[in-house]
Amino acid sequence: MYDPLNDNELPKAAPRASYWAGHPVKWPASLNQLPKTTDALVIGGGYTGLNAAIELRAQGREVTVIDAEQLAWGCSSRNAGFVMKSTGRLGLKHWHDSFGEDVGYAMANEHQLALERIRAHVKHCPDQCDLREGGYVKLAHNKGAVKALSAQYQFLRSIQQPVTWLDKQQVADTIKTQHGFAGLKFDDCFAINPVKLAASVARQAHQAGAQLIEHCAATAMHRSDEGWRVNTARGEIVARDVLFATNAYTTQKLFPDLAQRNLPVVSSVIVTPPLSRAQLDATGLKDDYAYMDTRVLKYYFRLLPDGRLLFGGRGAIRGAHAESPRYAKRLLAALHASFPALKDITHWDDFWSGWVSVSLDDYPRIMQLDNNVFASMGYCGAGVSFSALAGKRLAEKACGLPLPALPYYQSNLKPFPFAGFRRVGQWAFYHYGRLRDMWG
Ligand SMILES: Cc1cc2nc3c(=O)[nH]c(=O)nc-3n(C[C@H](O)[C@H](O)[C@H](O)COP(=O)(O)OP(=O)(O)OC[C@H]3O[C@@H](n4cnc5c(N)ncnc54)[C@H](O)[C@@H]3O)c2cc1C
Repeated sequence: MYDPLNDNELPKAAPRASYWAGHPVKWPASLNQLPKTTDALVIGGGYTGLNAAIELRAQGREVTVIDAEQLAWGCSSRNAGFVMKSTGRLGLKHWHDSFGEDVGYAMANEHQLALERIRAHVKHCPDQCDLREGGYVKLAHNKGAVKALSAQYQFLRSIQQPVTWLDKQQVADTIKTQHGFAGLKFDDCFAINPVKLAASVARQAHQAGAQLIEHCAATAMHRSDEGWRVNTARGEIVARDVLFATNAYTTQKLFPDLAQRNLPVVSSVIVTPPLSRAQLDATGLKDDYAYMDTRVLKYYFRLLPDGRLLFGGRGAIRGAHAESPRYAKRLLAALHASFPALKDITHWDDFWSGWVSVSLDDYPRIMQLDNNVFASMGYCGAGVSFSALAGKRLAEKACGLPLPALPYYQSNLKPFPFAGFRRVGQWAFYHYGRLRDMWG
């Protein structure tokens, strides 16, 4: 698999790769010809870039979105479709405790806006992006994890968030898992088909007048009197503003200052064959809910509308190993450990991976990198809902509009120290996480 830390170019004509890619979806027309100039050039045609395009058009700006591959080829077509009210790896309690109550409430409000934006996108989709509204449940994976999860519940209740506590018996009444010692249910979160969501946003961007161009990798850029000259696979374009929405797929070469502010991390998913009636009864799994556990190295799962079980977690460290069946087998072993009743499932129908963008301090930024150069990334694997708002905020920043006074918008992502050794740090973290999850 393409590895942003090792490969200088994105793959040539790689198709979208995931279970979702098999669903019939209507994409808007992509132009064959790159315009010579544009007000704003958005690099990256996933959720962030497409949402940025919609907002730029709303501000009356001429906008061109380019993607090296098909639209939404990156994480936006590979994710699990959990629409959560958060981003990064830090909870609302962190923002309350570190920045005070006002900032905490304002962050909660920002996450709410992101969720509402997805709901609006879902409404634009004829089949509502296969919306499943039961909620998102965080499961305490062992006894030791219950206390911290309960403290999180108490805090969220105290700030009037719609959450429900499930004790061990209540979890057992819902699903039969070995890792369900308690559950924190986020009642207003939901799950969708990510490719249908991406196509819905792409159609809206197209209808708003954005020019969408696929198979058009940006390969180099430099400043000139007319603006930023960007070389692409389809020729040169001059843009007043350049907006990076390249997520963890950012190559090291195009804008090196950006690339070293992000650690691309593989997340992998398997999808099983459809569960039998007996397997559904034995596990209690229903397609309304989406689950994640509290491990340092988390696993997440949901029953899909066609009765298959999607099960995901960390993948390989390097892209070269990401497609090895070893990582699918590891996910299958974790699935069996969670659901012994599914031990008869010995193969998977789909297995894929994608790169999530991890930031040094665990939260994303919408930032300015240079004159007229802006970027949004660092969602740390929780970007389906936030990228919708982040794209809008990115466009607002490029248009010189004020953003809410929140940590996400007030500083730039920090560069990784010793950036060349990011993989070594990641390897050490995985070992620590494995031990914590085994003994913690
Ligand atoms: C397996 C997996 C499961 C996930 N599950 C969830 C989940 O359930 N819930 C959740 O909240 N988050 C999840 N995420 C994360 C979420 O999908 C992402 O945070 C979100 O999709 C990011 O969207 P984006 O538009 O910023 O980036 P992407 O969708 O990754 O888009 C970036 C695009 O930039 C393009 N690009 C890169 N470089 C160039 C260039 N030089 N020129 C032109 N184009 C370029 C790429 O081709 C790519 O299409 C998951 C991620 C993975 C990998």
